[in-house]
Amino acid sequence: MREFRQQFPFFDTSTPSIYFDNAATTQKPQCVIDAIEHANIQQSANVHRSSYQLAASVTDAYEAARNNVAALINAPSARNIFWSKGATESLNLIAHGLGELCLAEHAMWQGDEIIILTSEHHANILPWQQLASKLSHFKSLRITPVSPDFNGNYDYAVLRAAITNNTAIVAVAHVSNALGCVHPVAAITQWAHQHNALCIVDGTQAIAHIPVDVQALHCDAYVGSSHKMFGPTGVGFGYATHALLDALPPYQVGGEMIEYVSFDEVRFQSYPLKFEAGTPNISGVLGMGMAANFVLQHQAMIIQSEHVLMQYLLGQLTVLNDELAVTTEIGLASTNNIIIIIGAQNPERISLCSFVLNGISHYDVLRLLDKDNIALRVGHHCAMPLMQHLGIDGTIRVSLCAYNTDTEIDGFIAALRSAIKRLVSSDDVIANSRAFDTSSVAFSASTPIGDQFAALQGYDVVFRQIMLSSKACPLLSEQYHTADYHVAGCEVDVWLGQFAGQFYGFANSKIIKGLLAILLEKANTLTPSQRTRFDFTEYLAQLGVSHHLSQSRVDGLSRVIARLSA
Ligand code: PMP
Repeated sequence: MREFRQQFPFFDTSTPSIYFDNAATTQKPQCVIDAIEHANIQQSANVHRSSYQLAASVTDAYEAARNNVAALINAPSARNIFWSKGATESLNLIAHGLGELCLAEHAMWQGDEIIILTSEHHANILPWQQLASKLSHFKSLRITPVSPDFNGNYDYAVLRAAITNNTAIVAVAHVSNALGCVHPVAAITQWAHQHNALCIVDGTQAIAHIPVDVQALHCDAYVGSSHKMFGPTGVGFGYATHALLDALPPYQVGGEMIEYVSFDEVRFQSYPLKFEAGTPNISGVLGMGMAANFVLQHQAMIIQSEHVLMQYLLGQLTVLNDELAVTTEIGLASTNNIIIIIGAQNPERISLCSFVLNGISHYDVLRLLDKDNIALRVGHHCAMPLMQHLGIDGTIRVSLCAYNTDTEIDGFIAALRSAIKRLVSSDDVIANSRAFDTSSVAFSASTPIGDQFAALQGYDVVFRQIMLSSKACPLLSEQYHTADYHVAGCEVDVWLGQFAGQFYGFANSKIIKGLLAILLEKANTLTPSQRTRFDFTEYLAQLGVSHHLSQSRVDGLSRVIARLSA
């Protein structure tokens, strides 16, 4: 395993010290980096256009990469693989093409319903929604989501029962990026086919973690992104059966996808080239081909290591949970399960664990973990409908890869423990927060909030003051936590309202609430015309709190500021 990790130069650098965001993108091994560099230096010629030696050899390499991806997913031939920008584009291409087949009343399209899972990535929701709206003048198409229970666990009998003769398409992820569960795609395909429906599979999160055999799955299409499987960004693939590829029309038109063009007639190439208009991402494809080889070569080890890592992580989370539950000194009731894993009962899972912390904003945890150089993702993970179904605004997602280590998990658990204690203790008297030197911090109800930052120095002290300030936020009552008062674009839900000239706000995150308290206090002392001229961003900078904002949170708060200044 150490040898495996050593192939990734990323780990030679120290920032971030722990990378647990592999579901967002994986690191690249040296062989992939070399392949991309080699492509850019020695293989810079266009493909499928010229027959001089260099161009021909690049075309050969480009097609060899197609073979590699076909081999990785056991496609019957490389012709079944088309290149794209990534899974998103592949899904858009397929949905668009299927829409055309529907309009043409092609025999492959039967029914008026598209079944998806509630936990699908937006990339496997939006193309179908758009399709339904595009076809609305022609056909009334229903998008039917099948949901897990309220803890994120699926009962596939519900999915099976939902598929009927009205079903045209079943579009599911092989592995959920938000829950980590592996859906039984072979069975789902069988259920779909029993009703003459097509089964389209989003394999983005599967390919680097479990063996994929599209022939055994019998699915009609399967898509993936290179950057989730050790390859470069901006490139991906789609697989489809010969019958589907033959039937699907081109997605874009232009160079290289034609056989003949005149002003009277156009004949397209056959697949896969008919889906590859324009000059492709050649170095990306070559890098992806290398990545596909890399996965195949290390697959057994990857699966074994990730299983062991995941068991270790789950074990350590349980230990931490038990420890926190009895730690009454940090103010938790002993019956509380503070760490709640979402979808823990799903029968098969990859090394991805999504959890929420009872009563603690995932966003506040992220800020503290980020300070410890731990990279992981919190939020809705591009699966907003799932979060709505679960009644939460996001999860903390740890997505492990075979190059991660037990030591990193230990480091993460230690940082999580410390973050939880710190966030919980900020509700209590300052003395509870022993681990941090916050002796200079206190909150005074009679002093303006902004003034209380004046003499503060250092991350911990300022952090603590922000947390204390959160209690002074003029709270927007719950009845106004509606779309009308929602501030779009923040990384956590923020609501803002103005009544009788005074602003009120709300956010679950204490950090955001603290920052709102600072901003609203100021805004509420200014006249409308003073507010439009006041530089709230500069004000936050002057108070020394700006570095407690991530870039995107600055963007988010800038929406709040825009409303205050309006
Ligand atoms: N599907 C799933 C399950 C994903 O996890 C992702 C990326 N998070 C996508 C689709 C979209 O992939 P890309 O952004 O590479 O197109």
